[in-house]
Amino acid sequence: MEDRWVSEITLMGLILAALAFIGWLFGHTTLFLVLGLALYLTWHIRQLIRLANWMDRQASGEEPEARGLWGEVFLDIARMKKRHRERRRRFAAIVERFRASTTAMPDATVVLAHDGRIDWFNKAAQTLLGLRAGVDQGQRIDNLWRQPQFIEYLKSQDYDNPLELPAPTNEDIQLSMRIVPYGDDLRLLIVRDISRLHALERMRRDFVANVSHELRTPLTVIGGYLESIAEADNLPPAQRQAFITMQQQAARMQRLVEDLLLLSRLESTGTTAHNEAVQVATLLTTIADEARMLSGDRQHRIELAADDATRMLGNAKELYSAFANLAFNAVQYTPPGGHITLVWRASAQGLVFSVHDTGIGIPSHHLPRLTERFYRIDDSRSRASGGTGLGLAIVKHILMRHGGHLEIDSTPGQGSEFRCVFPLTRRA
Ligand code: ADP
Repeated sequence: MEDRWVSEITLMGLILAALAFIGWLFGHTTLFLVLGLALYLTWHIRQLIRLANWMDRQASGEEPEARGLWGEVFLDIARMKKRHRERRRRFAAIVERFRASTTAMPDATVVLAHDGRIDWFNKAAQTLLGLRAGVDQGQRIDNLWRQPQFIEYLKSQDYDNPLELPAPTNEDIQLSMRIVPYGDDLRLLIVRDISRLHALERMRRDFVANVSHELRTPLTVIGGYLESIAEADNLPPAQRQAFITMQQQAARMQRLVEDLLLLSRLESTGTTAHNEAVQVATLLTTIADEARMLSGDRQHRIELAADDATRMLGNAKELYSAFANLAFNAVQYTPPGGHITLVWRASAQGLVFSVHDTGIGIPSHHLPRLTERFYRIDDSRSRASGGTGLGLAIVKHILMRHGGHLEIDSTPGQGSEFRCVFPLTRRA
């Protein structure tokens, strides 16, 4: 930089000195100096025009030749342009490769602009979503596919979980869709055909439901007979005990079957069918009384603090089932004399039902898996309590159907708190 200054100023100084000298010889120093400066300026303007013309041609062809500073400028720009051209070629190749791979993908891929307009889509989007090549680009996707759940998902901005829906082109095809925001307010909609998985899932559900249904009647019969035999007067004590145990196990199997049936019913019907304004406080009074009965001579102190005025939109039977499960678990897993508190209130977080106990608690590494079917911390302990291992799975499903979720805090040896949190929009 410094060198260029020195050499350019030196060159100009030398030219002007030579001209001044010649001018002085002819007695016209000033005239020669002015002429020299004009020539110097004209030369620079000419180089500028050459540069501008070359740039107009997108700098294609060889760079203009020049000496000194201008020569360096032409060479630098030529190098820069070459680098830029190569980068562009590489980028175009990447884009081409990306398009070729997404076109070949079996999943439908749609690029959406910030306002939901379709920017681009691949071939699978034509078959799965019925988009028409060359026609639907630039259209808003929520105008083309007016499925309410899809529109709500698109608007929600919460794309953590995929949305499952039948395909707009064919009701028998089940789709799972996911939106990935990227770049400058763009969104990528990825849609996958999960019909096979869906059919397998339905078969599994139907199988469990059918088996449970078929087991129900024989179990009722066996349970009934065992009960009457166990109560017979002329039974030796050892046999009586055996019949009582058999009857207890039959009752446990009946509870299992009932829980399995309830779970498959909850799974097979998406969100709650009907919403009534549920008086939760009344529901909880019944549950607290039943919990006291279950506690029996174990003498738990069971307290209820429920806000009468807070009613909730939902299904009373399902909510009863979820809340009772949590309250009865607290009784089962709290040593005699322990303290159990049931609370129902509205807070900034939402509508909350919580059960706090001073029971045995749960080690933290079990918490994430606690709502899985048949997941048990300690098999012998929960069998002894008569549990089915399905209670929390049922609670989770019921909460999900009411737009809520389950939170669990627990310290082994000190106690646990289970909280059902529902959105405030559920307030009746
Ligand atoms: P179960 O019918 O066996 O009680 P759940 O699904 O209701 O099945 O509960 C799963 C497991 O979670 C139980 O086996 C028990 O170990 C644990 N658990 C549930 N509630 C409590 C609680 N209040 N305190 C301690 N452990 C609990």
